[in-house]
Amino acid sequence: MTEELKTKLEKLDTEYSQKIAACADSAALQDLQVAVLGRKGALTELLKNLKDMPLEDKKIFGPLSNDLKNKLTAAFEARQSALETAQINAELSKTDMDLTLPARTFDKGRRHPLSVAQKRMTDILARMGFVWADGPFIEDEEHNFDLLNIPKNHPARDVQDTFFIKNTQKQDFVLRTHTSGVQVRTMKKQNPPIRIIAPGRVYRSDSIDATHSPVFHQIEGLYVDKNISLADLKRDLTVFMQGLFGKGAQVRFRPSFFPFTEPSVEVDVSCVFCAGQNAACGVCKGTGWKEMLGAGIVHPNVLRNCGIDPEEYSGYAFGMGMERLAMFSLNIKDIRAFYENDARVLEQF
Ligand SMILES: [Zn+2]
Repeated sequence: MTEELKTKLEKLDTEYSQKIAACADSAALQDLQVAVLGRKGALTELLKNLKDMPLEDKKIFGPLSNDLKNKLTAAFEARQSALETAQINAELSKTDMDLTLPARTFDKGRRHPLSVAQKRMTDILARMGFVWADGPFIEDEEHNFDLLNIPKNHPARDVQDTFFIKNTQKQDFVLRTHTSGVQVRTMKKQNPPIRIIAPGRVYRSDSIDATHSPVFHQIEGLYVDKNISLADLKRDLTVFMQGLFGKGAQVRFRPSFFPFTEPSVEVDVSCVFCAGQNAACGVCKGTGWKEMLGAGIVHPNVLRNCGIDPEEYSGYAFGMGMERLAMFSLNIKDIRAFYENDARVLEQF
């Protein structure tokens, strides 16, 4: 009995192994699978004898038939996948498609590093209570210079420094050299307390090099209220710089001169790259500080020019180049990287 069954199993094995290998389409392969492994298939029929067998025979016949079932199942799957691959290849061979060509890629757009820097700065200042103010890019001399206490003979008013636009009327216009005109316009129409930021594009008659550009971006801040002092300025700039560069950032004041502030200060920020710990630091040249902006207490003349009584109110103002801050925080060495718009450079930030 066992021998006879064994022979039958071997016959099934040979027969179906050959048929599977020879089978040329999926439908026929499925029929074949049903014919041997289906509910009424040849192997299933054979297995029905199992329950009537003596235990000894069951022990031999059981595993043998199981092995065959597994072997045939695997053969069906392998053949099925071979047939599918062959079919795909056949269809591909009918087209001109070259699957070895590299795929076309699409670059995702992103914000310019300067826009990212500006947003970071304005976000921090907005949280500190500063309101965004805007003004014209083409400014008259009165708002760009006169009301800011910048006298006629000041070098900033030289054609070497400023782009003048000749006008047939009584005064010339300029491409604004700073966003301070926005401060003036705000003070003229609004009573203190005033707390504004004026970010935007400004123009200087500079030739372009690694640190200068005839077009760049500024962000200015103005706070006018009662009893505003340098202490308020230092506190607010420290908060601002810590927002930009982290909790460890410190600011340092050095005396300076600007026509529109008195006293005036240059503001240094502690080096974010070495914290003053590296004498060979290329960013701060080992000093631990980086000059970052100009600031001061608004000159009484400027307040008076804008209709604010300097006996009652005082204010601080600060202004900084956005590029300078962005170059410092991103460690960019050349300002031209911002304007040449080489995607390979810009996408690094
Ligand atoms: Zn440093």
